[in-house]
Amino acid sequence: MDLGLTDKPVVVTGGSSGIGLATARLLLEEGARVAICARGAERLEKVAAEFAATFGADRVLAQPVNVLDEGDMTAFAAAVKDRFGGAVALVNNAGQGRVSTFAETTDDAWREELELKYFSQIRPIRAFQDMLAASGEGAIVATNSLLALQPEPHMVCTSSARAGVQNLLKSLARELAPAIRVNSILVGLIDSNQWQRRFEAREDKSQSRDDWYANLARTKNIPMGRLGQPEEAARLLAYLASPAASFITGAQVEISGGISRFI
Ligand code: NDP
Repeated sequence: MDLGLTDKPVVVTGGSSGIGLATARLLLEEGARVAICARGAERLEKVAAEFAATFGADRVLAQPVNVLDEGDMTAFAAAVKDRFGGAVALVNNAGQGRVSTFAETTDDAWREELELKYFSQIRPIRAFQDMLAASGEGAIVATNSLLALQPEPHMVCTSSARAGVQNLLKSLARELAPAIRVNSILVGLIDSNQWQRRFEAREDKSQSRDDWYANLARTKNIPMGRLGQPEEAARLLAYLASPAASFITGAQVEISGGISRFI
């Protein structure tokens, strides 16, 4: 299947690691031109250099950006417009989860988490909306979490914020149609830096990486018996971002190895 992405400019937030990195790489492999952003300039530059060497410097743009910062996002959008002339798709992927129960979550933590989850969608969408609409095949795809539909008490504010974002995306799919399609993926557990950080913080330091991950998959009762790989989420994101998904909007696709317990 041809995704129809040859030479098309696509933006991926949080493109320096994990799911965003795998998505940016796959989009480049599919012939797209790709703009990535993240806060950490060093890791971003390393990724950009690797991409430029493999795919050509003219097909890659990388800019240090906090997606929550309006000025950063405006400058990033201007750089994308300047370099690529516009954008056909925006993959809103930047972010991280917060592990805390209701008892542990302070008011400030609630505000921080709600701001991260909502504004990591709102700011990039505002910045790129006109370019996406003008492209004639605009698409937004959000990396959301299965927690939106299946909350976990140990991630109470992330679950709640994810549910609200899912609701927002559904509204946007109506408001922005037909110029821009809006879809999301609902991620279960994908092996990325987030899990690497939790592995490194494990209590029993004698436990190997393989054992820790196998135990995690068992504890979480993942029917596929393992965590997903970033490349598996990337294939879904790239498809939904591409003109190949031209009649799909307002959809949410689970990618969890079968972990959900609802129909
Ligand atoms: P990683 O930590 O590997 O990657 C996160 C990326 O987002 C990094 O590039 C990071 O770079 C960037 N980022 C984070 N905050 C910001 C910000 N404010 N502005 C700009 N860039 C930012 O994690 P994943 O690949 O796992 O996460 C991707 C998305 O998937 C996240 O939204 C995450 O919450 C979601 N998700 C992941 C799950 C999983 O199991 N992996 C489960 C459910 C949801 P930097 O830190 O330098 O800014």
